[in-house]
Amino acid sequence: HTVLGIESSCDDTAAAVVRVTDDTPEILASIVVGQDELHAAFGGVVPEIAARAHVEKLDHAIEAALSQSGCSLADIDLIAVTAGPGLIGGVVSGVMMAKGLARATGTPLIGVNHLAGHALTPRLTDGVAFPYLLLLVSGGHCQFLVAHDPQSFTRLGGTIDDAPGEAFDKTARLLGLPQPGGPSIQKIAETGNAARFVLPRPLLDRPGCDMSFSGLKTALLRARDALVQANGGLHRQDQADLAASFQATVASVLTEKSRRALDEYLEFNPAQPTLAVAGGVAANTSIRAELQSLCASRGVDFVAPPLALCTDNAAMIAYAGLLAHIAGETDDMTLSARPRWPLDQDSPAMLGSGK
Ligand code: ATP
Ligand code: FE
Repeated sequence: HTVLGIESSCDDTAAAVVRVTDDTPEILASIVVGQDELHAAFGGVVPEIAARAHVEKLDHAIEAALSQSGCSLADIDLIAVTAGPGLIGGVVSGVMMAKGLARATGTPLIGVNHLAGHALTPRLTDGVAFPYLLLLVSGGHCQFLVAHDPQSFTRLGGTIDDAPGEAFDKTARLLGLPQPGGPSIQKIAETGNAARFVLPRPLLDRPGCDMSFSGLKTALLRARDALVQANGGLHRQDQADLAASFQATVASVLTEKSRRALDEYLEFNPAQPTLAVAGGVAANTSIRAELQSLCASRGVDFVAPPLALCTDNAAMIAYAGLLAHIAGETDDMTLSARPRWPLDQDSPAMLGSGK
C-alpha cells in the first residue's frame, strides 16, 4: 500500500508518502512547510492567515512529497487527510484538496483524526505492539491513553485546563521569546537555574492522573513582574532561570502523573509494559529524559519518536489513515472537517478489555 498523507490542521502545511509492505511502514517522503514567520508579528497562530497559507502551499507540498518519494499520483492507493480536530479553515483546505485529488484520480479517500496520527506515531517509528500506554502531549492536548488497536483508545486522565504546549507558548510570550515557545524555552533553559523559582504543581496531591497547567502562567507572570519592578527589566539570566524553572515544573508534573498512569495501566496489562510519548511537547529533551529514567526504574519500555515526527507532519496521517482503511473504513465526497473530534469517544469503557 502506498499512501499520500495531507496535514493542515494548525500552522504546518504537510504532505507525505508512506508505503507499508507486510506490516512494515516506510516513510518515502515527508514534507513540512512551516508558517512561523507569517505569525511571528502576532505572537501566536492567526487562524485566517494560517488557512490562506495552507491554500497557497498545499499543492507545492504535495508535489514535493510525490517527487521526493519517486511516486506519481497513479502509484497512490489511498489519500489520507486530517479531517480534525484543529483550526477549521486549515482543515477545510486540506479536506478540499484531498477530495479534489480523490475525485480526479478515483483513489480511495479517508479522513483521519489528527490525534490518532500522533497516537499511532510510536508504531510508525518504532513498531510498538498493542496495547501501549501513551502520553499524548501537544499544543492543544494532554492526555494519558491506552492504545488498544488503531481505532480504540481509553483515556485514563489528562489536563483539566491548558495543554503543556500552550503553556510553553504562553510562557515564551511572557518572557519575550519567539514562537513556537517549546523550542525557544528549551534552548534558553540550558543556561538557566531550574531551582531558582518554585512554581505551582497543582493536582499532585490528588490521586489519579489529571493535570492542570493554567496556574503556571499566573505564577510566572508574578515572578516576571516582580523582577521587572526590582531591576527595571528582565535580564537574560532571569529569563533563562524562569524558563528552566518552568520547564522543570512541567517535566516533573508529567513524570509524576506518568508514574500513576503506569500503575493503572500495568495492573491490567502487566505483559505489555510500554510507555510511548507523542505530540509536539514530546520533542522536549528534558521531558524525554525524565520519562526515560522513570521507565528505566520501573522496567518499562520507553518509546519516543524522532523529534521531527513528534511535531505535526503528514507521515503520521498517512499511516493512521492506512490502518483505519485496512480496518474497513473509508470516506467519500461527504467527508467534512470537524473542529472538535475526541480520540476516545468510541472507546470501550473497560480498561484493558480491548474491543
Ligand atoms: P494538537 O496536536 O494538540 O492539535 P498542535 O498540532 O498545534 O496541537 P503539535 O504540533 O503536536 O501541536 O505541537 C506543537 C506544540 O509543541 C507547540 O505548543 C510547541 O511549543 C510545542 N513544542 C515543540 N517543540 C517543543 C519542545 N522542544 N519542547 C516543548 N514544547 C515543544
Ligand atoms: Fe499536532
